Amino acid sequence: MLRRDSPNFDARPPGLAVDTIVLHATVFDTLEETCSHFENPESQVSTHYTVDRDGTVVQHVDESRSAFHAGVSRMPDGREKVNDFSIGIELVNLNDAIDPYPMEQLSALETLLHQISTRHPIANIVTHAEIAQPPGRKTDPAGLDPSQFRPKR
Ligand SMILES: [Zn+2]
Repeated sequence: MLRRDSPNFDARPPGLAVDTIVLHATVFDTLEETCSHFENPESQVSTHYTVDRDGTVVQHVDESRSAFHAGVSRMPDGREKVNDFSIGIELVNLNDAIDPYPMEQLSALETLLHQISTRHPIANIVTHAEIAQPPGRKTDPAGLDPSQFRPKR
């Protein structure tokens, strides 16, 4: 796993299980721009992982830490501060609902989701757009149907 460490994380609250994955789109066109942004302490933002268009996966923050990716947020079940109990994954994509998510990227995402699910009791896979508060604040990842990744019950 490639590493481009970000300083933009906090400790997780003790005793809280990680049961949620939040999917994002970078808006940046390249992996390099995304990594630079996450490495900058002034940006105050990072996910745990970024998946490039070609399927390259980069880790920025350990899963044991709370990365700054969801911002003000609320789950459908009412829980807030989603960063505390989630893992954030960024997909390199312009987020204009036109830029496609290549098969290599979606396949690498699927593998990553599976790996994370072996380490944490993942019950929810949501988009940033679905949980950002107030509603409408975020649109990412635009053009991606999250239902294809949701745990089958
Ligand atoms: Zn986002």
